[in-house]
Amino acid sequence: MLDVIKTEYNSYENYPQIKRLLDLFFGNIEQYEGSNIDKLSAKSFFNSDNGMIEYNLALPNGFGTFLEQLVLHYQLPVQLNCIVTRIDASSSDSIVRLSIRDGRTLQCKYVLITIPLGCLKARSIEFIPDLPDWKQNAIDVMGMGLADKMFVEFPYVFWDPTLPSIYCTSPQFRFILCRPNDCILQIKLAARIAYDIEQKDDKKTIDEFMKLLRTIFSDHEVPEPTRFLLTRWAQDPFARGAYSNFGVGSDKQTLLDLARECHNRIHWAGEHTNHDGSIGCVDSAFESGQREAKKLIEKLKE
Ligand SMILES: Cc1cc2nc3c(=O)[nH]c(=O)nc-3n(C[C@H](O)[C@H](O)[C@H](O)COP(=O)(O)OP(=O)(O)OC[C@H]3O[C@@H](n4cnc5c(N)ncnc54)[C@H](O)[C@@H]3O)c2cc1C
Repeated sequence: MLDVIKTEYNSYENYPQIKRLLDLFFGNIEQYEGSNIDKLSAKSFFNSDNGMIEYNLALPNGFGTFLEQLVLHYQLPVQLNCIVTRIDASSSDSIVRLSIRDGRTLQCKYVLITIPLGCLKARSIEFIPDLPDWKQNAIDVMGMGLADKMFVEFPYVFWDPTLPSIYCTSPQFRFILCRPNDCILQIKLAARIAYDIEQKDDKKTIDEFMKLLRTIFSDHEVPEPTRFLLTRWAQDPFARGAYSNFGVGSDKQTLLDLARECHNRIHWAGEHTNHDGSIGCVDSAFESGQREAKKLIEKLKE
């Protein structure tokens, strides 16, 4: 994307205010995709939503409750803390063997892999035989974005309580959601900014944020925060990022390759495989799971 706009973008070099506004605008795209514009594909840019109609629904008790309902309704035998380290599909008996970190081996006819793209990129599961080149290439070329959140609680609301959000042309803290009922400011961080902040000490980040707030609200008294919380999705070994995006060189074929079965018995789902809908979202993950479940039901009938 940056290549496409570079000439125009650079022409604002001597207009720092306009450039900061432009950076805020591009920051909005980077926030949504979780990736910097120099890493995003211009050709595939509009494909991540794929015509999706957006509805916003918050699950106040978290996604765990949504999954619990499914598990209870269909009596699914879910095993928690079952970390797969190796998938061996090399045996001639058509049984796939999964090595679990606690030393167990599970045997099954088919495997449906739904670990995040970030974990696939980090090769956190060993495959025997190796994944075919077309699958590994798709894993490598598809983008895995990063989005983090920073929650800062104050003893009282010092900002205008009718403000839904604050957009700032700061290089770090650009998008602030205001939650006056909880006395919380929620800062959205993405891409390179989020990677940098994940490396820093929380206290240093909060001090930098407070400095910015005291500049914005220079005519108010800004109290010290009572508590704060920062997420670190890139450092989570079971996530290694937030959600996928179309990186340079990826397109619909990449999604088809990410979704395509390999080694006969290994199937793939997860938001990064949803080639007929959106990617990166909960509904993308859900639809991809349904797609593969239907295929597996048919196979099990054979
Ligand atoms: C900050 C943030 C904000 C977001 N906001 C939204 C939003 O507003 N709306 C929206 O729709 N989506 C949002 N998303 C994206 C959404 O959360 C993901 O697209 C969705 O959760 C992907 O589902 P999934 O099943 O593909 O992967 P995941 O939900 O990541 O599930 C993968 C599972 O695999 C497990 N796993 C990893 N490695 C192993 C292993 N070796 N062995 C066994 N298990 C393993 C993980 O523990 C995890 O449970 C957001 C994500 C982030 C980070």
